[in-house]
Amino acid sequence: MDLKSLIRTIPDHPHEGIMFRDITTLFGDARGFRRTVDELVQPYAGEKIDAVAGIEARGFILGGAVAHQLSVGFIPVRKKGKLPWKTIGADYALEYGTDRVEIHEDAVVPGSRVLVVDDLIATGGTTAAGIELLRKAGAEIVACSFVIELPELGGAKVLADLGVPFHALLQFDGS
Ligand code: AMP
Repeated sequence: MDLKSLIRTIPDHPHEGIMFRDITTLFGDARGFRRTVDELVQPYAGEKIDAVAGIEARGFILGGAVAHQLSVGFIPVRKKGKLPWKTIGADYALEYGTDRVEIHEDAVVPGSRVLVVDDLIATGGTTAAGIELLRKAGAEIVACSFVIELPELGGAKVLADLGVPFHALLQFDGS
């Protein structure tokens, strides 16, 4: 199955020069969505994973399904101001703009082995902020899993510097 063909590309969204990789078209395809989740889970099926963390918002759709498949709990890494309880946060630079991610201060069982899931890695800034937060809360980050990598934007090096292995199902050229 060609997962790449199920992803819609929207040129110049949300800013000129950005090729937005829209995976809602992949989510909308029953076989494509199932295959995507199976492929995200597959490398970690034999590993000891205690929880999956997903990054808002598309990482929730994927991460929730991956957590279900692995029979583990799910940790939402949310955008600023959304969580109702006491939070810890980290700021990061986006490919376009800046933002902040937060988790509940008690979201992680200290020492637990966490798999981080998001739809796409570009510069790696979002994932790095998520990793920083989860580590601050006591997580051991086993790996990160993405549907898409944009290799030209350097996310692989950011994760290598953090000592976190990652797996991406597809690569796209450019930004
Ligand atoms: P980054 O922090 O640069 O690795 O950016 C990753 C985050 O921004 C992910 O949560 C993506 O959903 C989103 N993102 C960045 N670039 C794109 C793009 N070209 N198409 C779709 N989403 C993107």
